[in-house]
Amino acid sequence: MAAELHQRTLSELAAGLEAGDFSSVELTEALLARVADHDGELNAFITVTAEQALAAARAADEARAAGNAGVLGGLPLVHKDIFCTRDVLTTCGSRMLENFVSPYNATVVDRLAGAGAVILGKTNMDEFAMGSSNETSYYGPVRNPWHLEYSPGGSSGGSAAAVAARLAPAATGTDTGGSIRQPAALTGTVGLKPTYGRVSRYGMIAFASSLDQAGVITRSSADAALLLGVMAGFDERDSTSIDHPVPDYTAALSESLDGLRIGVVKQHFDDGLDAATGAAVREALAVLEANGAKLVDVDLPNIDLSVPTYYVVAPAECSSNLSRFDGVRFGHRADNPEDLFDLYCRSRGEGFGAEVKRRIMTGTYALSAGYYDAYYLKAQQVRHLIADDFKSAFEKVDLIAGPTSPTPAFRLGDKVDDPITMYLNDIYTVGANLAGLPGVSTPCGFVDGLPVGLHLVGPHWGEEVLIRCAHNYEQLTDWHRACPEDFS
Ligand code: GLN
Repeated sequence: MAAELHQRTLSELAAGLEAGDFSSVELTEALLARVADHDGELNAFITVTAEQALAAARAADEARAAGNAGVLGGLPLVHKDIFCTRDVLTTCGSRMLENFVSPYNATVVDRLAGAGAVILGKTNMDEFAMGSSNETSYYGPVRNPWHLEYSPGGSSGGSAAAVAARLAPAATGTDTGGSIRQPAALTGTVGLKPTYGRVSRYGMIAFASSLDQAGVITRSSADAALLLGVMAGFDERDSTSIDHPVPDYTAALSESLDGLRIGVVKQHFDDGLDAATGAAVREALAVLEANGAKLVDVDLPNIDLSVPTYYVVAPAECSSNLSRFDGVRFGHRADNPEDLFDLYCRSRGEGFGAEVKRRIMTGTYALSAGYYDAYYLKAQQVRHLIADDFKSAFEKVDLIAGPTSPTPAFRLGDKVDDPITMYLNDIYTVGANLAGLPGVSTPCGFVDGLPVGLHLVGPHWGEEVLIRCAHNYEQLTDWHRACPEDFS
C-alpha cells in the first residue's frame, strides 16, 4: 500500500500529483484535517488559511489539467509568520503586530505561490525571531512532536514542529543565528540556510539585516533542493540580494561523496557538547568517510568568539530595525496616551515582550556614542576574523561538518529564565551567519528518544555541495524518515 499522503515527502507528493494519483484539493483537505486534529497540542500555527489554501489547490488542479502545472503545482507549504502575506495576518510572533495585515507579499511568498505552492497557514515563532526555544512568542510556546513537554527549538519552531508532525511537507523559515538549523535538529527535520544574499529578504520582517537569511525546513535534502531552486535568485527590491546564477540544485543529488573533503573542527567537540550528541555526530562522520568522503582536521581559531560577537551585532541591528514599531508608523498603539512621549513609551512597552526589550536595550547601548568603539566596532572586527578563519578552512576542504546544537531538545521552561544558557544553543550555528555562509542540518540519530542533527557548512554559494553531502547521508541512513509516534 502506498504511504498515506501526510507521510510523503514533497518530492513524493509532486510525483503523485503528476501521475494523477490524487488531486491537490484532496491533499490539501487531508493536511488541513491533520492541522485541525493536532495543532491544539502543538501550537505550531498562528493562522490557518484553509479557505485560501483550498482555492489555491483548485486553481493548481485546473492548471495541471490544462497542462501548465508549475514546479510546485498544488504542493502544500507553510510560511513562518515573519514573511509578509497579502490579506493574511503577519504577526512575527509579537503583540506589536497582533493585527497587522500586510498589503503585499514577501518575494519568497510570491515566488513559491508563482510556482504553484498552496499555503496552509502561518507558523508560530519566537517574537521577532529572537530566541532558540519558541518560548518568546506572544502566541505561546510550540511543543516538540517528539515529546510534548519539550521545546522544538527556535525561532522557526512552528515550521519545524509542523513538518516533523506531518502537518505540512515543508515550511519556510529564517535563520539569523541558527533559527532554521537548530529547530530542524531538535525535531528530526532537514533545515537549509542559504548563503547570505541568495534568497530575497524583501517582505521578510527584519531582525538583524546583515545576518537574516530565508530558507526551508523539509523532510529531505531533495525537498530542500526543490524549494531552494524556486526561492533563490536576484531580487531588485532587496538591496542585499546578489545577482549570482541559480544552479539546478536537484542535479547535485545524483553526485556521490567520492573525493569530498570534509573538515572536522576541533573546537566543535569540546566540553560544551553533550557526550551522546557528540557520539551520534562522530558516527555520522564515520558513515560519510566509509562512503568516499575524506575527513580533514581544520582549525577555526576565533570560532569561540562567535556567540559574544553575534550578541553584539544582532541586538545592535535589531535596535535600529525595531525602531519603526512605535505605534505611529507601525505596530500596536497604546490607548489614551497623555502625550507623544507617553504614546511611544506605552506602545513599545505593551507591544514588545521581555526578550525583545532586552535585545533593544543591549543593542542601543552597544551603539551609543561612548560604547560604539568598544562593543560594536570591536564585534565587527572579530566578525572579520571569524569569516577569515572559514575562508582559510575552505582552502583545504569542501565543507565543514559537526553538531548542529550542543544538546538535543530541552524541556520547556528549563532555559527561558537564563538568557546566557539559551544563547549558547547557537554556538555551532552563528558562525555561518557571521560569515554569510550556507548551512544545512540533517537528522543523524537520537539521544533518549530525541533527534539530533548533523550540521554542514559550505563556502559562499556552496549550497550544492551541502545538498549533495546531506542527500547522500540520508540515502545511507534512515534518520530523516523517523516519525514521532503520536503523529504517524
Ligand atoms: N537563537 C538566536 C537568537 O536568539 C538566533 C535566532 C535566529 O536565527 N533568528 O538570536
